[in-house]
Amino acid sequence: MIPSSRPLRARIHLDAILHNYRLAKGAASKARALAVIKANAYGHGAVQVGRMLAPQADGFAVACLGEALELRESGIRNPILLLEGAFSPDEIAVADRADLALVVHCREQLDWVLAARPSRPLPCWIKIDSGMHRVGFAPEAFAEVHARLRACPHVGQRCAMTHFARADEPEHPYTHTQLEVFDQALQGAPLPCSLANSAAILAWPRAHRDWTRPGIMLYGASPFASEDARARDLRPAMTLESALIAIRDLRPGDPIGYGGRFVCDRPTRVGVAAVGYADGYPRHARDGSPVAVKGRITRVIGRVSMDMITLDLTGMEDVRLGDPVELWGRTVSATDVAHASDTIAYQLFTSVSRRVPLVYEGL
Ligand SMILES: *Cc1c(COP(=O)(O)O)cnc(C)c1O
Repeated sequence: MIPSSRPLRARIHLDAILHNYRLAKGAASKARALAVIKANAYGHGAVQVGRMLAPQADGFAVACLGEALELRESGIRNPILLLEGAFSPDEIAVADRADLALVVHCREQLDWVLAARPSRPLPCWIKIDSGMHRVGFAPEAFAEVHARLRACPHVGQRCAMTHFARADEPEHPYTHTQLEVFDQALQGAPLPCSLANSAAILAWPRAHRDWTRPGIMLYGASPFASEDARARDLRPAMTLESALIAIRDLRPGDPIGYGGRFVCDRPTRVGVAAVGYADGYPRHARDGSPVAVKGRITRVIGRVSMDMITLDLTGMEDVRLGDPVELWGRTVSATDVAHASDTIAYQLFTSVSRRVPLVYEGL
């Protein structure tokens, strides 16, 4: 990256991620935990997060071969699971050489695995569709798929897995239904199981089983849409931080920014921070979206631009150019910012763009 004095950066608190991983382990204390570091560790840097967690982590999970190879090339030797398995038969040979575990979620992948000639037994995680209806074998097909993998001499450790559609709604009965469908499909097969994402780790003890798959909670955001006490001990791992690059005093009736979406209804002190949608700040942030200036919470006013946002500084007499602006982090919860843009913290984190330097601290 070309050096720049633009004051925007994402500070990544590695100590918070370690704390959150330990919290995930403690919450499901009989299970091992695959730290989910797909999508560049939800925008936090997969290599840095992977290396930091490697001495502790029971394993890692990623979405595709490229993500797994990046971890292997950086020296990470822990078990790694490809959450969507192979996308072509050729990938199985590469996965074998890199010592990866594969999800098998469909007939084609089953055929590829059975036809492969790996150098050592391939660990296979059989995905059952218990109600998400996205990928996975129908529950009725499990026994036969499992029998074929068990009979195959080059298939190694097997595990049964599924994924929940609504575990983030702790009162919703659908997770019960999925648990029942899953257990019914297994019919007591003596197989390690993996069901729980972050929400299920925190809210569904029945889903803990043998391997959990914490993702968003590692990064310190609650998996629940509403404030939930179970997520309170999580520590935010990313602080997206900029600074004030302009301060001006506007009169009642003055519009701010593109489209004049916000019109001042009183004398208004406006601050401009160097961050915009090209950095990953959500363009759909509404007026009132929370932001902190020098540690005090205020609001976005006016449309988000590509490189700048405008903030209400009315009543903050002591703020100066260069004062810090936190877009999300320890003062402003990413979940609250996400709500103000009709999205989720997962999307905010994974949208932080290449233009934003990641600065590691805390370990
Ligand atoms: C991404 C993913 C997870 C992690 O989910 P969180 O909600 O981030 O904890 C777990 N399992 C699978 C299959 C995933 O794709």
